[in-house]
Amino acid sequence: MIAVDGTSGSGKSSTSRRVADALGLAYLDTGSMYRAETWWMLSHGVDTSSEAAVAEKASLSRIEVGTDPLTPWILLDGDDVSEPIRTDEVNAHVSLVARVPAVRTRMVQMQREAIIGAPRGIVVEGRDIGSVVWPAADLKLYLTADPAARAARRTLEEGSADVAATEASLAARDAIDSTRATAPLVQADGAVTIDSTFLTLDAVVAQVLDLVAG
Ligand code: C5P
Repeated sequence: MIAVDGTSGSGKSSTSRRVADALGLAYLDTGSMYRAETWWMLSHGVDTSSEAAVAEKASLSRIEVGTDPLTPWILLDGDDVSEPIRTDEVNAHVSLVARVPAVRTRMVQMQREAIIGAPRGIVVEGRDIGSVVWPAADLKLYLTADPAARAARRTLEEGSADVAATEASLAARDAIDSTRATAPLVQADGAVTIDSTFLTLDAVVAQVLDLVAG
């Protein structure tokens, strides 16, 4: 079991999928689960700035997520929400929803079930995987990169032109994610940090595969 945590836009998803594929492991994107939960809240008119309002509705969504690194998918109440969960609207609200303990308890339980249900092993990416979801991970990674590099990459991925707006959005999420009371983004005990500011994706993947090979 490989836990990949880190800041927004640090390359966690691309790295995790490539590593899982290379090693024949399953893959779980826990951020997509918090994003789907956020889309549910927004679609149902819940005020995400109110922790109480989010907590009250925290058990109502039905989220199913695929674990094939080559074809990730996510269903919300049976509908494919791969596209809406990547919108600016969800980017702006997801950290507010993810700070609510009732939401986290449920997501962590689903994530542990996915890990247990992957007998050949799994790469799980998020913010609290090595610290909370699976502290007994065989390998824990903490991925980060300079904010400008992260914003530049994410802007390219999204096909948008506004690097400054992307950098502000990433910074806003990181600020909430790192300071929330429950399961803040931290470097888990025993995690190996990889700073990808000056590394290509291939180089990061190669480093991770080296670490796995021991
Ligand atoms: O990984 P991604 O950027 O898609 O995650 C979106 C948001 O979901 C994060 O900014 C964070 O608020 C939340 N998240 C979390 N814990 C995780 C994964 C994601 O709180 N394990």
